[in-house]
Amino acid sequence: MDCPIDASLIARTKGFLDPEEGQKLFEIARTASRLGPCLEIGSYCGKSSLYLGAGCRSNKAVLFSLDHHRGNEEQQPGEAYCDPDLVDARSGRIDTFDFFRKTLEQADLEDTVVPIVSRSGTVARQWATPLSLVFIDGGHTFPAAFGDYNAWCGHIMPGGYLLIHDIFFDPAEGGQAPRHIYELAGRSGLFEDLGIVKTLAVLQRRTVTMLPADLPK
Ligand code: MG
Repeated sequence: MDCPIDASLIARTKGFLDPEEGQKLFEIARTASRLGPCLEIGSYCGKSSLYLGAGCRSNKAVLFSLDHHRGNEEQQPGEAYCDPDLVDARSGRIDTFDFFRKTLEQADLEDTVVPIVSRSGTVARQWATPLSLVFIDGGHTFPAAFGDYNAWCGHIMPGGYLLIHDIFFDPAEGGQAPRHIYELAGRSGLFEDLGIVKTLAVLQRRTVTMLPADLPK
């Protein structure tokens, strides 16, 4: 089934997500959210939330969408991925929250997507709800990506999904931190690798723990 969100809304929503990756997010969220709530780290202006939210809405489930809305390290003023539209005139800082809320409003996702405006680590320390899907698409430095992986992978329920965006095997194409946490997840033995769509890795939490002898080498 194709994602039911209006294509023109997706096209005009700022973000860095290929439509094929988005469709995959929709399909996995539609399957996962039968089991429980989903969570994404790195909402930005809501492009991925459209796909994940549509999947959750089909099961009357919830997507927690976590972002401090101050932009990641590559989106700061003067950096490669800075969008001047997103700089708040009063503070001079990036502020994507208003864009994000408007995206949810236009997609009729306000009863499905729950924004959490905070840093990932701050929320993770208090978190106690098992999640059916965790999508990691926050900061791309090694400390940020490892922090998100360490903080959230333990909250994924058996049978739930771990999705990681921006996997590049050639360092010339992009940063390597997401790829490293993807490989860490594979080596942990906790997840089955379901493959990669463009730069989106899809893993599923095993329901049976592997024996040490069966762990990937
Ligand atoms: Mg990304």
